[in-house]
Amino acid sequence: MKDKACKKCHRIVKGNQCPVCKESKLTQSWKGYTIILNPEKSELAEELKVDTPGKYALRIKK
Ligand SMILES: [Zn+2]
Repeated sequence: MKDKACKKCHRIVKGNQCPVCKESKLTQSWKGYTIILNPEKSELAEELKVDTPGKYALRIKK
């Protein structure tokens, strides 16, 4: 089964709840992902509004 992504912060989530924003609004409709290790140094992290290292979906279908 494909992992889900959090609709709010784009994080790829295993399970039914996002560990970052504690949301359960997850979706399997996402495309591509990136691993962000240093959010404070990453332009992409800024674009995705990510401040926790981890694996994030690039595109989420709303
Ligand atoms: Zn989230």
